[in-house]
Amino acid sequence: YDAKANRSGIANYTPARDRNSPDRLGLLGELRQGLTDDSLTLVYQPKLSMLDGSLLGVEALIRWNHPVRGAVAPDEFIPLAERSGIMPQLTERVITVALDQLVAWRESGLIVQVAVNVSVTDLAGTRLIDLVRSGLQARSLPAAQLQLEITERVVAQETAELNEALAAFSAMGVTVSLDDFGTGYSSLLRLQSLPVDEIKIDRAFVAGLVGTDGGPGIVQAVIELAHALGLPAIAEGVETEQEWNTLRALGCDGGQGWFVARPMTPDVAGAWLHERLASPRSTVSPITKNQ
Ligand code: C2E
Ligand code: MG
Ligand code: MG
Ligand code: MG
Repeated sequence: YDAKANRSGIANYTPARDRNSPDRLGLLGELRQGLTDDSLTLVYQPKLSMLDGSLLGVEALIRWNHPVRGAVAPDEFIPLAERSGIMPQLTERVITVALDQLVAWRESGLIVQVAVNVSVTDLAGTRLIDLVRSGLQARSLPAAQLQLEITERVVAQETAELNEALAAFSAMGVTVSLDDFGTGYSSLLRLQSLPVDEIKIDRAFVAGLVGTDGGPGIVQAVIELAHALGLPAIAEGVETEQEWNTLRALGCDGGQGWFVARPMTPDVAGAWLHERLASPRSTVSPITKNQ
């Protein structure tokens, strides 16, 4: 920890910031354990077209139900998993659970696309490519039913390995969404040559949309940049009807957020999706407000 952080000479000790603190090492051990038991689960959040309200897919988000701490947020343990080298196992687990979910939904008559978040550490080598290919094959799932979300921060630095991985997924038919867009300082040249299929505008821009000077202008520019690259723009973290309508008016193609639905457990998500697909709506705004 940083003893210089406080001029009084008394350091602010935060276990969460100390890589080697007993707290952190304990958490890591428990996370390893979580890879083999049922404490790591996925919840699903729908993504809708802003054009006609149709369902574009669902995003899988990991949840860790810690026996003592309760729910631990991914922002707390994903960085830990990345640093400690267990990310490959975690991602393997996430992809396996997500693909099994697609099979279960297929059996109930539900065909949807699921988007899985992957980390930069997953994109080294061919492990993830092999895992995805064999996972889809083993379940007879079309590649189009899987999407990978990679954060823009990852792609800002160009590497041959990353380019190869993206090309391999593209050839396979697995689409890639550029997550947290606008936070990664990718050069425009880099973006132009990047084989991705969709851009997800970071929640921070959506949050600044209403009541912030320049908010709509920035968001509009981001949407137009996506379109200039030939890609649809999807807004994340849309919490209100006003945000939804503003984004829609700015030409945004799709949206996701509490206004539509919170991330839902598999059962709740299944029921939600069945209902949604049974009565497709061509209305402007989504109607379901739940939880
Ligand atoms: P992300 O991929 O950008 O996901 C969006 C985050 O915004 C999620 O947080 C989601 O629950 C939250 N969210 C959705 N709608 C709203 C809204 O209307 N308002 C607000 N305030 N928040 C909303 P979550 O689930 O805590 O995940 C945080 C991040 O952790 C994700 O950001 C993603 O980068 C990472 N993550 C989550 N699951 C996984 C995973 O399975 N693997 C990897 N590698 N990363 C994951
Ligand atoms: Mg995401
Ligand atoms: Mg995102
Ligand atoms: Mg994000």
